[in-house]
Amino acid sequence: MDNMIIHPLLKEIAALFNAQGKQICLVGGAVRDLLRGEKAHDWDFATDARPEEVIAIFRNTKPRSLVVPTGIKHGTLTVHYRGKALEITTYRTESGYRDGRRPERVAYTSSIEEDLSRRDFTMNAAAIRLPGGELIDPFGGQDDIRKRLIRCVGNPAGRFAEDGLRPLRAVRFAAQLGFTVDGPTLEAVPGALDVAAKVSAERVRDELDKILAAKPSTAFRLMEETGLLRLILPELSACRGVEQKGYHKFDVLDHSLLACDYAAREGYPREAALAALLHDIGKPAKAKKGEKREWTFYHHEAESARLARIILIRLRYPNMVTDAVCRLIEEHMFHYDKSWSDAAVRRFVIRIGEENLENLYRLRRADAYAAAGVEPGAEFLLPLAERVDGILANNRTLSLKDLAVSGKDLMETGIKPGKTMGIILRELFETVVDDPESNNREKLLEIAASLARRYR
Ligand code: ATP
Ligand code: MG
Repeated sequence: MDNMIIHPLLKEIAALFNAQGKQICLVGGAVRDLLRGEKAHDWDFATDARPEEVIAIFRNTKPRSLVVPTGIKHGTLTVHYRGKALEITTYRTESGYRDGRRPERVAYTSSIEEDLSRRDFTMNAAAIRLPGGELIDPFGGQDDIRKRLIRCVGNPAGRFAEDGLRPLRAVRFAAQLGFTVDGPTLEAVPGALDVAAKVSAERVRDELDKILAAKPSTAFRLMEETGLLRLILPELSACRGVEQKGYHKFDVLDHSLLACDYAAREGYPREAALAALLHDIGKPAKAKKGEKREWTFYHHEAESARLARIILIRLRYPNMVTDAVCRLIEEHMFHYDKSWSDAAVRRFVIRIGEENLENLYRLRRADAYAAAGVEPGAEFLLPLAERVDGILANNRTLSLKDLAVSGKDLMETGIKPGKTMGIILRELFETVVDDPESNNREKLLEIAASLARRYR
């Protein structure tokens, strides 16, 4: 490539391969980034060296390197060298995509052009040969990048039939790069839904996470248009046309997408982003006409949390993520005002979990933005946040283990472990949440003794 400055580390790696008579090219996202004039965010390499030869090349480097067989079935190794993780894949063709999921076997090849022909989109199918920097671009990737186009290498229907994740990758890249999906490529998506349905939930989830961190509405609108949304998130697709006049002007789907875009723009963590996507997903089931013929959605937050759990389990999100997202959704309708007692604030924190508070505020900001289309001010939720901080600074009785007495203390007074003990500890905890002053040993033992008499 003209004017390209090859990073010294790339030259060094090229020298290691060339010394063994092997080729090495930069491929994938790194080339795409460089052609877009951006700094490459990570380095993927392709080589005609077989995996065992790559291992040998890095055996005695100075400084030392560590080779991890991260995708050895597909010929991929990750080499940790000079503080970088380098993904190195042997040139290959793919054959035997029988189920639309993953190639059943890989065949290595010694031709970079052949390797590039198996790649999904033209913008991902160019290579830069090292150390010289010569561009190998058999499918017009550079041109498409200039036109900001996402276009399949070869026949779109055929390429989607090989791997049903590709349609979702196309819309993900549209959201990440702000590119347009080329007409014939987009038009081939509806015909590929059967294959897309067979893709593993984990691969879909990883794309969804990338979409949520980019400009989500771009991807979700393309998904809706092509049927991918109804396939992957039918619950969200059902939010289209659910009007909410009286609250705001958007239907539930557009409102959810606005909330997601806001979450992405603000760099919210995954839990808050997922909650922004799913917080109103129970509304279609809870929509009822009120007395003045306005729409109401009573208790939609519980239904939204119920559906969100089903969705997140289906997409194999970790349980910790699922639990946090559902908690946020379930609690997103709180109405704070300064008449709340300190005990009410403490109960609020206990119910939500201190670790989820920040994300709950974030969700409410995204929700407020998406209702009005206007950025909430810096003072938004500030009275509540300050109140919570003040109360937590003085008193941190947030769980049973913060009580001034333990189960063991109660046993010493003759209360037997078991159900009654559990009830007594719970009541002591409620007492302390209402009145933090009562959190001292003597007082609690006294209350416990009187409770024990009642339960005997
Ligand atoms: P990013 O790392 O930003 O997600 P990337 O383009 O590097 O983008 P990877 O998933 O790291 O994407 O894949 C590296 C390269 O491997 C891609 O650029 C593409 O050439 C090829 N590739 C990845 N997944 C597929 C697929 N499902 N079908 C065909 N080629 C693929
Ligand atoms: Mg990559």
